[in-house]
Formats: sequence, structure tokens, C-alpha cells
Amino acid sequence: MAIKAVKGTRDILAPEIRNWTKYEEMARKLFRRYGFEEIRTPIFEYSEVFSRGIGEDTDIVNKEMYTFTDRKGRSITLRPENTASVVRSYIEHRMDLQARVKRLFYIGPMFRYERPQKGRYRQFYQTGAEVFGSSHPFVDADTIEMVVRLLRDMGLTGLRVDINSVGCRECRPNYRKALQDFLSGHREVLCEDCKRRMDSNPLRVLDCKVPGCKTVVTDAPSIQDYLCEGCQGHQGQVFQFLDTLDVAYSLEPGLVRGLDYYTRTVFEVISEGLGAQNAILGGGRYDNLVKELGGRDVPAFGWALGMDRLMMVLGNRKLYTEEPTFYVLPIGNDLKYAVATVATLKNAGYHAVVLAEANSLKSGLKQINKAGGRFAILAGESEKEKSVLILRDMGNSVQREIPVGDLLKEIENEIAK
Ligand code: AMP
Repeated sequence: MAIKAVKGTRDILAPEIRNWTKYEEMARKLFRRYGFEEIRTPIFEYSEVFSRGIGEDTDIVNKEMYTFTDRKGRSITLRPENTASVVRSYIEHRMDLQARVKRLFYIGPMFRYERPQKGRYRQFYQTGAEVFGSSHPFVDADTIEMVVRLLRDMGLTGLRVDINSVGCRECRPNYRKALQDFLSGHREVLCEDCKRRMDSNPLRVLDCKVPGCKTVVTDAPSIQDYLCEGCQGHQGQVFQFLDTLDVAYSLEPGLVRGLDYYTRTVFEVISEGLGAQNAILGGGRYDNLVKELGGRDVPAFGWALGMDRLMMVLGNRKLYTEEPTFYVLPIGNDLKYAVATVATLKNAGYHAVVLAEANSLKSGLKQINKAGGRFAILAGESEKEKSVLILRDMGNSVQREIPVGDLLKEIENEIAK
């Protein structure tokens, strides 16, 4: 039996892959304009990076990690997200000494053992940005604006920025307590997971998708009423800077994020066309994580964007322009004339291939049709003798002889038609 791709994984093929690569190109260019450098960390790390970095009582760490023991008995995990790895790298390379503020971005695959469904995979792809070394609210707004701009540049509309604050070490414990008190009055209607979360991680109950839990939390106390002065001030300034940068947002007091490390700002960008899995990206501030992973006390802000979902939202829209491929047919055993023709085309930036395996005009044309090619160029012995080429439009089968020296001029005209 033929072997298939592992459940929850898939091959990304042409033409879909063209949107992926074009998107990556646009993202890299834009992020550089905002002062970000790319970082590529390994796909696997010591498991500790994630268990300490993401938080022991999160779904990711409890249920979703691909963890294995290597040949020396060390526990290794395929990265379920990249922030913890980037922080590990930031600390390891003492990037705090390189610049007061360090801006990094990444693009790559992540791995989570989740139940596969539409838009949710076990190997999926994220783009992320992280800023280290500034607790200034402008950084929050600027880094949000950067990704909103990227999405707009891609032509997306119907986007919404939901934002909230999850407080800090000073004020969150008071809210946590108030929420726990509230939830304990509704314990019996909460799902099994939330009964457990209530004690260990009550903010996660706000995030639960089970209808019963969702109903309960509509009356829960709001974290907005518990923020300390510092967190309130920070949030107010983030809003002002978002206004200055012309980013529309809405305050969602029920928004919390699945990961433990957030402090103050959390946000998501929602695509209104996406249904249940509607967040394209999410992130926030994480002022304690660098220290918790063994570094200095360095504040940080970041987000991660789900590329699989982004591509779903894009649907059939093309980010790239379609460029025709010119198929050059040697007709006969001597490939030299065809090879020279293809070289001329490639040097001028066109896409061109020699159909070396086509052993007749008929089989060559059939091959081109199958590939959906628009143009054939016949470059056989008799054409070579006359220093001409035959340019054939596959759409209407009309062909004409052109002087070899006019090739580039002629195909420019054809493409413009
Ligand atoms: P998170 O790292 O959980 O905050 O997720 C950030 C973004 O990654 C989400 O908003 C999703 O768009 C995307 N994402 C998370 N998990 C998956 C998955 N299993 N499959 C596809 N995309 C995902």
C-alpha cells in the first residue's frame, strides 16, 4: 500500500504554494522596514524550554507536545510555538548586550498534537515577531500596526483587532481571586476541564469554547475593573498610539490568551470570514518570561500569526502575478538551438524550459497543453538553418515565424496582448 502523509499534516503544492512564498517575501520586506531581523531557531529544543516557557498547566504543555527521548535519554520536544525558543536564544546569545531594543521575526513550522479539523493541523506554520527590551506602550501599538499593515497590503478586509489587558503580578492575583469566587458558585455547570482550570488557571475558563462555560462567563467579573494604575495607564497609552497609527480596535474584557506568560496587553486579529477558528493571529506583552527562563529582567512584546489560516482567508485570491512559461521544442536530436533559445529567455527574466523528452512535435504540443502552457517555441534543425524560430500561441494554435534576433521583442508583444 502506498504511504500517505501523517494525520494532521499535508503537502502544500502549487499553485497554493505560490501564495505562501509571495506572502513570505512581503512579510520579510515589511518587517525589515520596521527594524526587525529574521531569526531561525531549531525545530526541536530541550522539553524544558517549553514546559517552563509556556507554563505547566496549559493545553499545549499538558496534551499537545510532540515529546520524545533521544538516544542519550534527554527529553526533546518539537516546538509547539516559537516564542520560548526565541527567548532561549536571546538569553543564550546575550542579545541584551547587543542593543537596548532587539526586534526579531521568524517564519516556520510548529507542531501540536491537536485534533485535526478545518484550519487546524499537527504541523502548521507561523510567522511571529518579538520585541525585547522595551516596556513602552508604543512598542505594543507599533508591532500590532505592523502586522495589520501586512494583512492590508495583502488585500484583506473584514479584519478586527480585539484587545484587552490581563494585568500584571500586582493586580492579576486580585482578579484571579474574584474570578475564582465567582466560578465556584457555578462549578456544577462547568465542563470537566474548567472544573480543574478553576483552581489552577481560572483565566483560561474565560477562553473555553464549551457552550455551558461560555454562558457562565458572560456574567463573570471583568479584569478591566481590577487593573492597577500602572496597567490602566499602559492600556490607555496603547489605545492612544493605536489611534495615532490609525489602527481600529475594540476592547474585549473577556479576551485572555491560552499561554501563561502574558502580562498587560493581549490582542487578537480576527478575520470575520473564518468561522469558529477565526483568529489569524494573537499575542501580547510578556514582561516576565525572559527572567523566568534564566535571563535578565527584560520586558517583551510579540505575536504569532497562523499562516495556514491566513491562506484560508485568502482563498482563491492571488498574491502573485501569473508569469507564462515558454516551452521550447527542439524537434530532433540536436538540442543546441533550443538550449540557446531558452538561455536567451532566462537571461531576460522569463520562465522557459526545454522539452528534451518530447520526441515529436505532436507529443511536445500535448505535453505543453497538459501543463497549461500558453506558448510553444519550435527550435528545430530547419529553423536553425534559417535563423528563425516558430512562436505558437497554444490558445488558438496560430503560429508564425520570427527572426531569432527579434525573439524578446516578439514575446513582449505577445504577453501584452
Ligand atoms: P497560538 O500560538 O496558540 O497563540 O496561535 C497563534 C495562531 O497560530 C493562531 O491564531 C492560529 O491562527 C494559529 N494556530 C495555532 N494552532 C494551530 C493549528 N493547530 N493549526 C493551524 N493553525 C494554528
